[in-house]
Amino acid sequence: MNGWAGKFLRVNLSKAKAGAERYGAEIAKGFLGGRGFAVKILWDELKPGVDALSPDNKLVFAAGPLTGFAIPSSGKLVVAAKSPLTGSYGDGNIGTAAVVQMRKAGYDALIVEGQAKKPMVLLVRDDNVEFLDAGELWGLDSLTTEEKLADIYGPAAGILCIGPAGENLVKFANIVSQKGRAGGRPGIGAVMGSKLLKAIVFLGSHDLLAAFPKELKELSAEAYREILMKPAYAFWKRQGTMMTIEWSQENSVLPTRNYSEGVFEKAASIGGFTMEKMKVANRGCPQCNMTCGNVVKGSDRKESELDYENVAMLGSNIGLGNLKQVAALNRAADELGLDAISLGNVLGFAMEASDKGLIKERISWGKFKETKALVQNIAFRRGLGETLAEGVYRAAEKIGGNSNQWAMHVKGLEVSAYDCHMAPGMALAYSTSSIGAHHKDAWVISWEVKTGRESYNAEKVDKIIDLQRIRGGVFECLTVCRLPWVEVGFELDWYPRFLHATTGLEMNWNTLYMIADRVFNLTRAFWVREYGNEWSCELDAPPARWFEEPTTKGALKGSKLDRDKYNQMLQAYYMRRGWDERGIPKKKTLNALGLEDAAKQLKKRVKLSD
Ligand code: SF4
Repeated sequence: MNGWAGKFLRVNLSKAKAGAERYGAEIAKGFLGGRGFAVKILWDELKPGVDALSPDNKLVFAAGPLTGFAIPSSGKLVVAAKSPLTGSYGDGNIGTAAVVQMRKAGYDALIVEGQAKKPMVLLVRDDNVEFLDAGELWGLDSLTTEEKLADIYGPAAGILCIGPAGENLVKFANIVSQKGRAGGRPGIGAVMGSKLLKAIVFLGSHDLLAAFPKELKELSAEAYREILMKPAYAFWKRQGTMMTIEWSQENSVLPTRNYSEGVFEKAASIGGFTMEKMKVANRGCPQCNMTCGNVVKGSDRKESELDYENVAMLGSNIGLGNLKQVAALNRAADELGLDAISLGNVLGFAMEASDKGLIKERISWGKFKETKALVQNIAFRRGLGETLAEGVYRAAEKIGGNSNQWAMHVKGLEVSAYDCHMAPGMALAYSTSSIGAHHKDAWVISWEVKTGRESYNAEKVDKIIDLQRIRGGVFECLTVCRLPWVEVGFELDWYPRFLHATTGLEMNWNTLYMIADRVFNLTRAFWVREYGNEWSCELDAPPARWFEEPTTKGALKGSKLDRDKYNQMLQAYYMRRGWDERGIPKKKTLNALGLEDAAKQLKKRVKLSD
């Protein structure tokens, strides 16, 4: 095969054994890579009901066929496992040199099984795999860990590691690389910690083989040039996603004080223009010429990489209007290996619980010092941190009262940074995302605000499905960044051309949509297989707060979602997807996508409609 290496590396930590495995061309063509490979491997190899933090869970690191080549923004890696936070399929992506090195070492994916006997570092150098004692690295923060490993293995090494949160099995611990690029929101870092795997180092020395190297070289040069010429490029380089703070404020969707409001009185002081005055550098993922990591110095005088999500969640959502302090919290999250979105959500939840007297600890909105101390306590599971380390869903179960009304999650994953009191489409996108309430698969909110946010209609459903196909499907399988397309208008036509040059295959967007649907349906099948008869359409509902507690501020004061209309839109979504009224794929839908095995297995767990 060209483009793909055609090999997975399987590592068993319990036995300290590793071996390469060839996989068939039908897997490559049917699932592409990245999320497609991850869900296929986890579906095939995990038994339903496996404890996510046990040696029986598997950790998958998967690349797509474009990654490692000089193709714009293609340096992404999907990290996946059964999630300890949601109890089902979980993944995230990281822009990292580790994925380039993994591909150069000759692998499209790494599958990690079992559990080490003591903390370990995995070193993959082409065919040579070593199981090294983590020694003094265990217990260190993620940035120091990476620095120490880079000192040993050199600046070209691709390094992935966890911080103390992953070691302490915090359910929203992530995996960190390149001084703060992180991924794996649904606790994939905790799965790594449960395996006593502190870090992975990749060093590869092979050249990747493209089907048409000359065509690829010309195409790449043209594509990079094209991005530089886009009118939106210059402003993007100044602010990256930080411009979204101002946009969200203007449109009343900036999550504020645990999503009770969509406007924040200090939005300007945490916005893109404030950030520009503090910015000291730009960082980014491999092979990207629109690098969007805004590096600033926080109140702790340390560097911190800001983007919209981490600033909104650690700023307005916890009532903090000082960007230097937000940056310091974000730096702490990266050092500890905590997902910043879930962290901001959990902190907002704790502040509201404190306000309402449901917990004895006093945690005030916008108070930096006590918040920073709480962040440390979460990573080390101390005091209230022990409860919060379980995520908002479980924390609400524990503290009781009516806190489940304002525990802001879907299927256990904390909501990302858009308030949906008046954004039913975005609420539906959160609720039907592959991993719980994440914005990556279908960031429909910008289109929704432009085209009629108050409506609940079929056009919105279609738009969400299109976005899930392109962003959550094709981009996540190719492991390329969605932002060139979303933010500067880099056209979709480029991707079949890249695929042709690298793999030699002619795949048009219809074929790519089919693959995206296959991956999406298999992911849904994974969820249903885990839940069995407990699965219901209620799992595809956004948090109760958005239905029951109208906003009290801003131009959209008094907004809330309409539950009946939302449910009608959800049923329309199911119909369009070929799912039944419970949100379970029908047998004919699975069969049409070549997922006959999934249909057979699901039938053993739930009643399957024809
Ligand atoms: S646009 Fe930003 S997130 Fe995307 S690849 Fe470039 S640096 Fe990474």
